[in-house]
Amino acid sequence: MPTYTPALPHPPAEDGHPADDIRLGDVVRLRKPHPCGADTWRIVRLGAEIGLRCTGCDRKVLLLRRVYRQRFAVRLSRVEGTTER
Ligand SMILES: [Zn+2]
Repeated sequence: MPTYTPALPHPPAEDGHPADDIRLGDVVRLRKPHPCGADTWRIVRLGAEIGLRCTGCDRKVLLLRRVYRQRFAVRLSRVEGTTER
């Protein structure tokens, strides 16, 4: 039996992508506005999928991280009290 080396549970982070510099509670603007007209979203979940809650209609969506990266435009605000590092 050949020894099977499992893949790393998490692929190496693609450093430097601004879309990855997010924390729960951050508000971001996406390139594609929600049908309700709002284009800002609050981060409600971080993982393989990014959970976003529309600030206009309060609806929640999950985006695959790579999809989220493509749609990310800019981070607008960060929740007070979170400490860097
Ligand atoms: Zn909306």
